[in-house]
Amino acid sequence: MNEEEILEILQEAGAIKKGHFQLTSGLHAETYYQCAAALESPRLTERMGDEIARLYTGKPIDLVVSPALGGIILGFATALALDVRFIWAERAQGAMTFRRGFCVNPGERVLVVEDVVTTGGSVAEVIELVERSGGEVVGAACLMNRGGRELVSDHDLKSLVTVATVAFDPKECPMCAAGNAIESPGSRRN
Ligand code: ZN
Repeated sequence: MNEEEILEILQEAGAIKKGHFQLTSGLHAETYYQCAAALESPRLTERMGDEIARLYTGKPIDLVVSPALGGIILGFATALALDVRFIWAERAQGAMTFRRGFCVNPGERVLVVEDVVTTGGSVAEVIELVERSGGEVVGAACLMNRGGRELVSDHDLKSLVTVATVAFDPKECPMCAAGNAIESPGSRRN
């Protein structure tokens, strides 16, 4: 699938909404991205995992690691497609860490998978955790790249789709000027 086809699928799944939205930043936007709407469908998530795995054809990967919570479903689907082990990292007292007995074995080649990347903060923390744990990071991948970053912690960030949010100060918002009703979808995403 190419990027256009994936965008179309995401739109059909309700992961890309058009309208007039108040973002958590207070800015207004015409497009709202809700990646989780696509990941509600196990079949669709499986396809996205296949597509991410395809980006690494010919590159040896031993383990997929995702940041909790958003990355877990897609990370699992990617690991399934690659037929490798899958674990996740989660925050404890503010720091990204492995719990539940999860570990990276020395020298394991690791792909970091996240659903949505904006600033890349969580992905960077997982990359650093994997490296501290003795793993070798092959790269990072996401379904939706909202920040346009191509590198996270000196590693390539690949994405199935790259999207840009055009946001307006409410005082300069053309949809406000047109008197369009506004929605606040609200949930904070990273
Ligand atoms: Zn507005």
